[in-house]
Amino acid sequence: MLLCAMTFKELQEKFPTEQSIIVHFHKIRYRNGLVCPHCGSTQKVGTRIDQLKLCNCNRCHNTFSIFSGTIFEKTSTDLTKWFYAVHLFLNAKKGISALQLQREIGTTYKTAWRMLKQLRTAMGNEILTKPFELIVEVDETYVGGKPRKENKNLQFTTPMPKDTSTTGRGTKKTPVIGVKERETGRVYTRVALPDQNGQKLTGKQLLNVISTVTKSDSVVMTDDFRGYNIMNHKVTNPEKFTHISVCHSLGEFSAGKGLHTNGIESFWAILKRAIIGSYHHVSTKYLQNYVNECCFRQNNRGDNAFDKLLLQSVLVA
Ligand SMILES: [Zn+2]
Repeated sequence: MLLCAMTFKELQEKFPTEQSIIVHFHKIRYRNGLVCPHCGSTQKVGTRIDQLKLCNCNRCHNTFSIFSGTIFEKTSTDLTKWFYAVHLFLNAKKGISALQLQREIGTTYKTAWRMLKQLRTAMGNEILTKPFELIVEVDETYVGGKPRKENKNLQFTTPMPKDTSTTGRGTKKTPVIGVKERETGRVYTRVALPDQNGQKLTGKQLLNVISTVTKSDSVVMTDDFRGYNIMNHKVTNPEKFTHISVCHSLGEFSAGKGLHTNGIESFWAILKRAIIGSYHHVSTKYLQNYVNECCFRQNNRGDNAFDKLLLQSVLVA
C-alpha cells in the first residue's frame, strides 16, 4: 500500500534544491500570511531578498527565521536530507530505524536518531478537527516496553521486575488504549500510565480517552473487559455513549452484524509489526511517540500527508 502518494522521483523534481524547500515551507507555514513571532504583527512583515529563510519585521525591527519554533530550527543537517527523511518516514509502513535512515541519508547514527525523534514529535502534534462519531471501536493492547530506570547509577544493581506472562491484561507490559472511528478509519491512542493509586487501565482512564475524541451519543463497541462497564451506568456515562460489549469468550463474536472490534484490532497489528519489526524494543518513556507515528500514518494518507507533517513541525508551546 502506498501511504504517501509522492514517489522519490517526484520528491526530487519538486524539491531539487534547498531554496525550493524554503519556498515550499514558507508557503505551508504562512498559508494565512506572515506573522512576526516577536510582536505578533501581520503587517509590515516581509521576506528578505538576500536570504529567503529570513524575514524582517518593520514594526519591531526584528529578524526571524521561517523555521523558528519548528523541528528544523536548530538543525545543522541539510534541508534536502530532512525532506528525504520525511519522504522515507511517511512511506515506511512499519516505520524506519535510525540505522536505516543513517545509511540512506549519510548522517551519523545520533543525527538520524534525533531526526526520527523530531519527526515523531511533529506527528504527535496532530489536532483532530472533527470528533469521532456514529460507531467507534475501542480496545487496548499491551506493548512490552519496560519502565525506564530513574537513576542511571542503579542500572546494574536494581533488576527490573520479571515479566512472566507474555500477553494480555495483568502483565507488566504497558497498556495502550485505542479508539477507531469506523466510518473513516481514523485512530486516536493513548498510553495508559498508572494513576496516582498505581492502578492502570481503570474504567475512568478508558472513558477519559474515549470522551476526548468521541462525540456524545455515539455507539462505542468494546470487548467484554469489565473496565468498559463504566459506560453502562447513567451517572458514570455523562456523554451518553451507547455501549455494546462484544463478548469474544462466550462466542458472541458476530462480525457479520457489525458487532466487532476488528478495525482497532487490525491497527494494533500494524503497531506491533512496527515496534517489533523496525524498532525491536521501545521504552515506556518513548512509547507514546511511536504510537503517534503509527496513528499519523493511519490518519493521513495520500498527497496531503507530507504537507500536513510540515505544518505539524511547528512545535506546540
Ligand atoms: Zn515584529
